[in-house]
Amino acid sequence: TALVIGGGISGMTASLELANQGFKTYIIEKEKKLGGNLNHLNILYPIQEDASIFLNEIVSKVESNNNIEVHLESTINNVMGYIGNYDVSINNSKDEVLELKTGAIIVATGGQELKPNGLFQYDGKKKQVMTQLELEQKLQNTDKAWLEKLNRVTFILCAGARQKEGITYCSNVCCGTSIKNINVLKELNPNLEIVVLYRDFQMAKKEFEEYYRNRRKDAMFLRYDLDQMPKVTNIGKSPEKYKVEVFDTNLQDNL
Ligand code: SF4
Repeated sequence: TALVIGGGISGMTASLELANQGFKTYIIEKEKKLGGNLNHLNILYPIQEDASIFLNEIVSKVESNNNIEVHLESTINNVMGYIGNYDVSINNSKDEVLELKTGAIIVATGGQELKPNGLFQYDGKKKQVMTQLELEQKLQNTDKAWLEKLNRVTFILCAGARQKEGITYCSNVCCGTSIKNINVLKELNPNLEIVVLYRDFQMAKKEFEEYYRNRRKDAMFLRYDLDQMPKVTNIGKSPEKYKVEVFDTNLQDNL
């Protein structure tokens, strides 16, 4: 047997691989449903498929697999033992404690989007300043009237990432996601002007590079430096309006 902690896309994929090789597999998921972050995505790139269709297909494979036992709203209480022989106790939503025996444990607890509080006017409350995951959730909604009122959208990449201290690394996710979302926004509102402020553009694979090249015409790309961060000023409360200033390192000019 195997036990997978986390019922997101990684956990479900690992569970299906194990189950299809004949191993009884437990999935322990803390939320009420499987899917993790995939539940909050709109379109997947580079396959351009609706995330909910992709997710539903995998969830139905997991739920119909006799070798997989899913425990929702459950958390790990304790793990004892050694490789090949673990005793795991889990708590479920009914405050019951279940004891499971397993030979292997896969930790697939997923990732969290950085909320860049205090940067570029973001505080998690303003309607017009949002993270890309929050944008995806807005785009999942069938009511897109908010988009028709917009003239220009600015994406500021590396918000809080690749810093000198703290989060020093690149997620390798947000550049590609921005290209996808630029494309989605342009399809919904072709008159929308889109500006992307970036430091470096990181596309994880060759196929993503082509994805970027095929779509970069949809936006104006301006490069900024960590030492001269873009400045965002609130210039209107209702409707919300912002002024964005940036020193473009390619043009060597303030815009
Ligand atoms: S370079 Fe792109 S993928 Fe990497 S942290 Fe910055 S925005 Fe995200």
